[in-house]
Amino acid sequence: MRTKETFNHALVDSATREDLFQVVTYQKFPLTVVRGRGAWVETTDGQRFLDLYGGHAVAATGHCHPHVVAALKEQAERLLFYSNVVYSDVRAQAAEKLVQIAPRPLAKVFFCNSGTEANENAMRMARLATGRERIITFTGSFHGRTADAISATFLGKYRDLGRPNVPGHLCAEFGSIESVERLADEKVAAILIEPIQSMAGVRMAEPEFYEKLRALCDERGIALIFDEVQTGVGRTGTWFFAGSEAAGGVVPDILTLAKALGSGVPVGACLASERIASAIRLNDLGTTFGGGMLAMAAVVATLEAIERDALMENVRRVEAHLRRRLADFSEVKGVRGRGFLLGVEFVSDVAGRLQKRLLEAHIITGTSSDPRVLRLLPPLCLSESEVELFVEHLRAALDEIA
Ligand code: PMP
Repeated sequence: MRTKETFNHALVDSATREDLFQVVTYQKFPLTVVRGRGAWVETTDGQRFLDLYGGHAVAATGHCHPHVVAALKEQAERLLFYSNVVYSDVRAQAAEKLVQIAPRPLAKVFFCNSGTEANENAMRMARLATGRERIITFTGSFHGRTADAISATFLGKYRDLGRPNVPGHLCAEFGSIESVERLADEKVAAILIEPIQSMAGVRMAEPEFYEKLRALCDERGIALIFDEVQTGVGRTGTWFFAGSEAAGGVVPDILTLAKALGSGVPVGACLASERIASAIRLNDLGTTFGGGMLAMAAVVATLEAIERDALMENVRRVEAHLRRRLADFSEVKGVRGRGFLLGVEFVSDVAGRLQKRLLEAHIITGTSSDPRVLRLLPPLCLSESEVELFVEHLRAALDEIA
């Protein structure tokens, strides 16, 4: 067995040691990142990278936003943690603030620790509120990796990894209301949808689709759940996709959040309508860590930073600039998505090669399950000059691989 003494740490780098001691589960960028600020991260050897992947869609306020860092330091010195068996000033603040910015009728929040957990609890809430069991999700969906959430995931190989799956999960065609209508019977508790399917290649439907889903749910007594783990917290240029013009103004009965909500401190949340929340009794839901003080301080500071820095206005302005610049590329077929959840669709399967070239030029981007789509999830503070840098290197990368 290897012991600590086996290594001379001056000779063996962190990447090698990580791969030796960790279960290898992710295809990693060849970077060892040590610090970050705004839309940039820095490696051990002092190289700077423009982060258009936003730390996996988490760093919405930018890396190490000073207001978030200060709030975390202050909270860490006061109280790191106490569970939901006590009241807390900072938890009250986080809950009130989230409910204030949520579109009506969302009126109550349940805090947990991650996106998958938020979706698990959202489905449980819907089952408790309707007394039904089945859940409809969509082709191309990704909702997480715990048992119920992975069973609700119909993208690629994920669902099979969760075998034996939780029973009662049905799959409709994304964008087709007829396929939903066929499945939506009196056994269905909820329809769970990523309003913009990120991992499937940033796919979104017409506003009428969300409107028809809302009407169908109302008519058949089904709860509508939006998984806004990626789209929430300002990413689409509004606090949530729910209630926006692109959603046809539709607001779900339950909305799930994670990723950007704590600027990197793990936290998830389910926002629910009064009607759903009133069906939940003591001890129906629970979590030790959910609602902990450090996470709550991160939530409050994240929401404040987005407001104070007018980051959603920035998203709308810089998105328009990026779209104008990409319109000049003959290789770009279209730009999907909204705000800073964008899929740049190329005319051929070049996303993987472009990602590699861009990384060599010190720009981090994402791919998706669609090999034609380069996925951009930058911090909401990304500037027009940083977009210019991306555009310049994208031009060079396309020329190189041509
Ligand atoms: N829902 C969506 C839409 C996601 O993109 C993800 C994560 N990629 C999840 C749920 C799961 O979130 P987590 O990894 O925090 O469990």
